[in-house]
Amino acid sequence: MKVPLLDLKPQYQSLKKEIDEAVQRVIDSQYFIMGPDVAKLEEEICAYLGCKKSVGVSSGTDALLLALMALDIQPGDEVIVPTYSFFATAGVVARLNAVPVFVDSDPVTFNIDPQKIESKITSRTKVIIPVHLYGQSADMDAIMAIAKKHNLKVVEDGAQAIGVQYKDGRFVGTIGDIGCFSFFPSKNLGGFGDGGIVTTNDPALGEKMRIQRVHGMEPKYYHKMMGGNFRLDALQAAVLRVKLPHLDSWSAKRRENADTYTKYFIAAGLSSETGRTIFDSKNKVLLPKAVYKESGFKNHHIYNQYIIRVENRDSVIDYLRKKEIGCEIYYPVPFHRQECFKYLNCSDSEYPVANSAAKDSIALPIYPELTDEQLKFVVDSVSEFING
Ligand SMILES: *Cc1c(COP(=O)(O)O)cnc(C)c1O
Repeated sequence: MKVPLLDLKPQYQSLKKEIDEAVQRVIDSQYFIMGPDVAKLEEEICAYLGCKKSVGVSSGTDALLLALMALDIQPGDEVIVPTYSFFATAGVVARLNAVPVFVDSDPVTFNIDPQKIESKITSRTKVIIPVHLYGQSADMDAIMAIAKKHNLKVVEDGAQAIGVQYKDGRFVGTIGDIGCFSFFPSKNLGGFGDGGIVTTNDPALGEKMRIQRVHGMEPKYYHKMMGGNFRLDALQAAVLRVKLPHLDSWSAKRRENADTYTKYFIAAGLSSETGRTIFDSKNKVLLPKAVYKESGFKNHHIYNQYIIRVENRDSVIDYLRKKEIGCEIYYPVPFHRQECFKYLNCSDSEYPVANSAAKDSIALPIYPELTDEQLKFVVDSVSEFING
């Protein structure tokens, strides 16, 4: 049975008529740069998330870069980031000649461990970037308290977490100073190419980012600040506007799939409960835990990824791929071990949690349209490998 890691075709098929019409409407107008669809998408995202301002941009990476530029990050400034994330979270810091400062992960969620942040703060620290990894919120109460105490800004990397609710019901990306989202096709709300958006409740920051999105230009050809071409395409905005009303139902399906995996892994005797962090005879597979499930908010987790941990991970992946099951490692190399960050002279022993996550974890297929048979086949295949 084929189980791809991600198949975007069924989602497109289900909305083909509306999406094709929206795309054709943009083509007929020949209005490709900015325009009404971008403005409407920004309004709709603000209404959905409950924030004051949003600015559509060219990618999730550019959302992060624009956020740091709007906060005036200068060469030599330090920005605290989790060591375990997609490269962009740290890459944008280094591109501004600022210094990314890496923090180890929480052993259950793999999100930044707030207890390890304060020891990394210096007089040069300006910003903390928590990442809401795999689709659940970082510990924002703890992070916001640290930021307040040390007078730091908070930029939320919500690339994998659009629509996620923190334990108090607020949507991630509206809690810190600026929220950053990606519309890369594999995210829960994916466009037909690259795209992203920044969100804020600070009208002045929102206005600044709107101007910096277009070369810091206001009015036309007058540049009072540095910016870039960070625009979101009208075609992407038109597609995303069709998809946005369906986001919650897709995320709900992903949650159902996650619950089904959990049920099957426990029934197979491979795990005793979610959120375990140590392998033993009853836990040969460590299952992800939705830590804010008790909050009762439905979008406590949107499962952009479903991550299990196994010993002999690489052999498990070989076995699953042989059975035509798609799987991936998010991420095999934490930032502190990346060649491009060698100049930072990080101490590997400071990051035991991220190092073990990089060694053990596997992302399994979790997209909304998977069938029960496919989910069962994935669990049976893992079970076959482990039990021989
Ligand atoms: C996808 C992703 C990004 C980058 O988004 P792009 O749209 O691909 O530029 C940044 N951070 C995280 C955590 C991501 O998953």
